[in-house]
Amino acid sequence: MSIKDNLLKIKEALPQSVGLVAVSKFHPASAVIEAIQAGQNVFGENRVQEAAAKFDEVRKTFPDVQLRIIGQLQRNKVKEAVRIADAIDSVDRVELLEEIEKQAAKIEKKIQVLFEFHTGEESKSGFQSEEEILSLLERAARGDFPHVEVRGFMTMAPFTDDQNLVRGSFKILKALQEKAAAAFPALNLSELSMGMSGDWKIAVEEGSTMVRIGTAIFGQRDYSNAGGGAAK
Ligand SMILES: *Cc1c(COP(=O)(O)O)cnc(C)c1O
Repeated sequence: MSIKDNLLKIKEALPQSVGLVAVSKFHPASAVIEAIQAGQNVFGENRVQEAAAKFDEVRKTFPDVQLRIIGQLQRNKVKEAVRIADAIDSVDRVELLEEIEKQAAKIEKKIQVLFEFHTGEESKSGFQSEEEILSLLERAARGDFPHVEVRGFMTMAPFTDDQNLVRGSFKILKALQEKAAAAFPALNLSELSMGMSGDWKIAVEEGSTMVRIGTAIFGQRDYSNAGGGAAK
């Protein structure tokens, strides 16, 4: 099946209220362009250098394409991430948010973020404690991060065939979102980024507002194609 066919199939099955982030990591700019031509406008990448090379190129022709950073981010990559991204969905520590604010202020850009929460045994990424997230939201509500708009939460479910574990992970994120939204009504914490190629249907049942799908759109990733340029 083509990228276009894959996209159409997923969009048909996805409720209209749920956003689709097409995860194009390890796929070339030509694949992104194919997806854009099939009507997709929001993409996710997890490595900043790869994303910058690819999307600087894609944006020459398609300047309005949106890019979300969804992978673990090192502090020394934040400047470049803030330059190229519309959103950073993988904020997993206080210092990272502080650095995003600093770099966004420098270029007078307002950037959206999601806080990644650790909800599954096997994944290591994300904030480990709810308290840490809530106290950071309190700072955001006080206006400590004027160039950052916190819009909600992200998680990765454990990689397992046990659907109950996967569902449980999504339920944890939804519960956190409801609690945080009630505690900080001045912030708009409505987004729940959860669900990937293997588990997005469960995620949607559990209240996902944004699924991140790579393999089911673009096919298997070729990890030898690490450059992420235009080469096919
Ligand atoms: C790679 C990746 C995805 C997409 O995974 P698929 O299984 O290919 O759909 C989603 N979220 C994150 C954080 C990723 O790194």
